[in-house]
Amino acid sequence: MTKPIIKNQFASDNYAGICPEAWQAMNDANSGTADAYGDDWWTAKACDALRDFFETDCQVFFVFNGTAANSLALSALCQSYHSIICHELAHIETDECGAPEFFSNGVKILLVAGRDGKIDLDAVAHTVTQRSDIHYPKPKALSITQATEIGGVYSVNELHAVKDTAARFNLRLHMDGARFANAVASLQVAPKELTWRAGIDVLTFGGTKNGMAVGEAVVFFNKELAREFDYRCKQAGQLASKMRFLAAPWVGMLESGALLGHAVHANTMARKLAEQLHRCGEIEIVHPVEANAVFVRIPQTLLTGLSVRGWKFYTFIGTGEARLMCSWQTTEADIADFVADVTALTARPTPA
Ligand SMILES: *Cc1c(COP(=O)(O)O)cnc(C)c1O
Repeated sequence: MTKPIIKNQFASDNYAGICPEAWQAMNDANSGTADAYGDDWWTAKACDALRDFFETDCQVFFVFNGTAANSLALSALCQSYHSIICHELAHIETDECGAPEFFSNGVKILLVAGRDGKIDLDAVAHTVTQRSDIHYPKPKALSITQATEIGGVYSVNELHAVKDTAARFNLRLHMDGARFANAVASLQVAPKELTWRAGIDVLTFGGTKNGMAVGEAVVFFNKELAREFDYRCKQAGQLASKMRFLAAPWVGMLESGALLGHAVHANTMARKLAEQLHRCGEIEIVHPVEANAVFVRIPQTLLTGLSVRGWKFYTFIGTGEARLMCSWQTTEADIADFVADVTALTARPTPA
């Protein structure tokens, strides 16, 4: 059997490989032996590097993937009779197979709408206040995604409005940061301005989509909520015995600057792709391009043509448009190839 090589894709940032900086760090961590289960030098150093990154004394845990990171973080914010409010397109609602509810023993997720994948704060207020009786699952947490599932970012001002709403209703704040680096790269502000200064209690910080092999950091700014979190990780099968290989890439990518550098690159590629597709005319860009995703409405015949030419991308995310996702590995040539195929497929036949 020959190994398929996927060349033509804007499917996901997790189709990309491991970036050189993460790979190098894993190689460095691979000399000799180290303590297991996170009691090693690399894990301590990665936690310190993240504390430097956020300029605060946060508490950090490393887990294998985003679903676990989100689910376990949320379970630390709620009792089983509580509810979590999030956007109707939130990954925790649409793409985690009920894991947040499962790991918090039955917590209910309550959905609100909102433009551009961002929660509408009046809708949040309504969801909290519409009932106060004992029969309603008591709202206890608010979860937002930065960058959002449809490629936008919350500005610092928007985050402060979210914080005020959370404070008003005594809701704990979770940020799904699977693409947090892309948000930082997009806004060009210090990471602290998007997190603890904006009232975030816990951030799930994605490493995988930004170039690591595997691994997300769960970062508690409210350290009180991190109590016994290590046990939750272990019980959920998320305590890596060779933790150094989850931790080392954070050291390598933070120290080299690759963490933000790759995010800047992915965002830049998305912006270029959007600009060039916009110029083609046949494809409509449907959401603001503020991070590394471009959402487009593509006519069915063109979709089919692109598929025949081997292009892969998702059409099930968000509201049913096609999602073109760029990564640290996307090149100008990838964009040129895609745009050339779009142009060829939409060319009017020249009159004889
Ligand atoms: C990819 C992603 C995750 C994590 O997903 P896993 O496949 O479980 O690693 C979480 N949130 C968002 C918004 C994502 O895009």
